[in-house]
Amino acid sequence: MTGDVTRFAPSPTGYLHLGHAFAALFAAESAARSGGRFLVRIEDTDRARSRPEYEAAIFDELAWLGLKWDQPVRRQSEHFDDYAQALARLKARACVYPCFCTRKEIEAEIAASVAAPHGPDGPIYPGTCRARSADEREARLERGDACAWRLDVAKARELVDTPLRFQEMGSGPTGETGEITAKIEVFGDFVLARKDAPASYHLSVVVDDALQGVTLVTRGNDLFAATSVHRLLQALLGLPAPRYGHHRLILDAAGKRLAKRDDATTLRTLRAQGVTPAQIRERLGFTSR
Ligand code: GLU
Repeated sequence: MTGDVTRFAPSPTGYLHLGHAFAALFAAESAARSGGRFLVRIEDTDRARSRPEYEAAIFDELAWLGLKWDQPVRRQSEHFDDYAQALARLKARACVYPCFCTRKEIEAEIAASVAAPHGPDGPIYPGTCRARSADEREARLERGDACAWRLDVAKARELVDTPLRFQEMGSGPTGETGEITAKIEVFGDFVLARKDAPASYHLSVVVDDALQGVTLVTRGNDLFAATSVHRLLQALLGLPAPRYGHHRLILDAAGKRLAKRDDATTLRTLRAQGVTPAQIRERLGFTSR
């Protein structure tokens, strides 16, 4: 067996902090341990929040940490066609629908319902547009009404062999390893393409991991729930399923997850204060090189 292909996939919407450093080192070391390859992917589908200076800082700081990655780097904004093709394949399988709801309308509907089901990211979409007739959908699309595209999870379920499973190599939030059963309803009818971004995180990640031949997806426990719907998209699109290695999140002194807005833990700030890459590795529990 050849080694694992792993990736670190930051969004250039802020400066990297210690949590990103941990994720990058974890992915790079997982590849190195197996004699494989380490990739960096720029997840910049959110054009409004992505900035070239953040992307430049990502490369600069990863190199400063001592990491080396394969070239060329894949930048998602250059591959919207790939995601559009995947969406077209899902449309052809009749398991997606256009959603014309505004955020306000969704919030109002949720507020009005007695018991709105919740997922890991908050209330689940109530399915308003799933109920629209084919005629109404056509008419609104023809009229040029802005829409997002959502997966019809109930229809999708009928198209795949359930239960779907994925291989957990790390320790997800539940500590379970080995074969995990995907909870494909966890986010309800999640978004595949947004009004303002032609590909959602879920769709672009699944397409890219397959196109790039990623065999081991390492990422933080905060994305553990997402893996279930990624497994569903892989099954619907006929893509291979990588193995997954979820890892712990780096917390601040108060026990809270680090966020891009906390300047104190950005690599940029630490570096300016004279902290060395070796000290960062050590602080994050990696052996110094
Ligand atoms: N781009 C995602 C983030 O910044 C990570 C995606 C992944 O590792 O699947 O959190």
